[in-house]
Amino acid sequence: MNSPKSPETLSTAHLLINGAFVNSETKEWRDIANPATQEVIGRVPYSTRQEIEAAINAAHTAFQSWKNTSIGARMRIMLKYQDLIRANSLRIAKILSAEQGKTIPDAEGDIFRGLEVVEHAASIGTLQQGEFLENVAGKVDTYTLRQPIGVCAGITPFNFPAMIPLWMFPMAIVCGNTFVLKPSEQDPLSTMELVKLAIEAGVPSGVLNVVHGGKEVVDALCSHAHVKAVSFVGSTSVGTHVYRLASEHGKRVQSMMGAKNHAVVLPDASREHTLNALAGAGFGAAGQRCMATSVVVLVGKAQEWLPELVERAKTLKVNAGNEPGTDVGPVVSRAAKERVLKLIQSGVDEGATLLLDGRDVKVKGYESGNFIGPTIFSNVTTDMTIYREEIFGPVLVVLTVPTLDAAIELVNSNPFGNGVGLFTQSGAAARHFQSEIDIGQVGINIPIPVPVPYFSFTGSRGSKLGDLGPYGKQVIQFYTQTKTVTVRWFDDATVNDGVNTTINLR
Ligand code: NAD
Repeated sequence: MNSPKSPETLSTAHLLINGAFVNSETKEWRDIANPATQEVIGRVPYSTRQEIEAAINAAHTAFQSWKNTSIGARMRIMLKYQDLIRANSLRIAKILSAEQGKTIPDAEGDIFRGLEVVEHAASIGTLQQGEFLENVAGKVDTYTLRQPIGVCAGITPFNFPAMIPLWMFPMAIVCGNTFVLKPSEQDPLSTMELVKLAIEAGVPSGVLNVVHGGKEVVDALCSHAHVKAVSFVGSTSVGTHVYRLASEHGKRVQSMMGAKNHAVVLPDASREHTLNALAGAGFGAAGQRCMATSVVVLVGKAQEWLPELVERAKTLKVNAGNEPGTDVGPVVSRAAKERVLKLIQSGVDEGATLLLDGRDVKVKGYESGNFIGPTIFSNVTTDMTIYREEIFGPVLVVLTVPTLDAAIELVNSNPFGNGVGLFTQSGAAARHFQSEIDIGQVGINIPIPVPVPYFSFTGSRGSKLGDLGPYGKQVIQFYTQTKTVTVRWFDDATVNDGVNTTINLR
């Protein structure tokens, strides 16, 4: 299982520049390791300056013709693309699971949530329509065009190597833009499989380009004159940097960042469904979802459910993502595991009660994997590091409050604003909650309320910088510039009504 692969059998993440998949000329490479075994399965380059420049220039040149390609042609590429993704989903899910660690069904879910965006992109004929108003003045009409803006860049995180790139480039290019993608350097292989399918579906040369690397590539994309818009998804520290740098250089930016998602449980909630939802959303994908439940707030008598939550968490099977029946796979890297272990220790040191300790989990046959079992803390207070910081591992922290209003106040005082859940059978309580809670995405008896692509991803406050979110209607605004045209046509019979020196149309 741990036998090293020879260099020839390693998967190399290629660059995509002007329609050609090429090997980077760089001397700087990073290994891609299977998080369950540490086996090196591939390698990814840190693109050179010249390669970044070539990718951006290819996108800049391709924009001149792509922006005038008919809507029908763009839609048909997306129709073909969704078909190819569907046909290759399981194959890519296996690659994704091997490089990222999530289970195969969850990897298929990662691809499916991206596929839904591609399906939606195929409706661009109605999504990109402008507005028309006749007779805004005498024989004067006004209409709007939603025109593409040029070269757009996307920078993506490790936790959804399929879904998040698919939030970005299909919507950008179907609007008539061209794109340079910088996938996560931790798990770019599955992303590259999706990129290959986009080219197979008919995306022309230069319309979609890919460079790899880290900070240097990201900073180059954020500051290059040809790049007009930057979409970023990742941690708060990097997202804040990207937002500032790209904004300083005059670009549109959307930066979707870290989270601390609360699940508020009222005592009238459906007990079985709620406990299942908390365990699934807290520990699924090893807690490495930006919308994972990471804080449970038990209101009043709901605190009596805590022992049952611990028992439910104990039933989850920790194993490699490719093993059937796995509930919790490894975290993505040794560094990620070390970070989570440190945070768990801080919880112990700062006085929280460790009800379930996943630190010493052993997985037979995968002894060197980055596994952490489900971990639950109670007696957590808001000043503790485990409450304040995003843990991004299979760790739930539990707080108790006396009332729904106290829970709302707690959640609203947390700086993050990505997602929140309420578990209740009371419509009145749910309505009060949805109106008073200051979080961009709310689930009522839904633990991970990621909107489908007909809506937009609307994380808020400390989880987002920029006005417009990924996919849905908001991203059409993000990836297009509105031009307003006001028109009057004269015919021979038009009466000469003299010179108009006022600002008014007549
Ligand atoms: P990350 O911020 O480390 O990396 C994201 C991207 O930024 C990668 O492509 C990486 O190469 C690049 N990068 C890393 N360091 C950089 C630097 N110093 N300067 C410029 N670029 C740099 O994030 P990650 O660990 O890959 O992903 C996990 C994080 O992403 C979590 O915080 C999670 O909450 C967040 N996330 C948020 C959302 C959302 O929609 N809000 C969705 C998914 C993930």
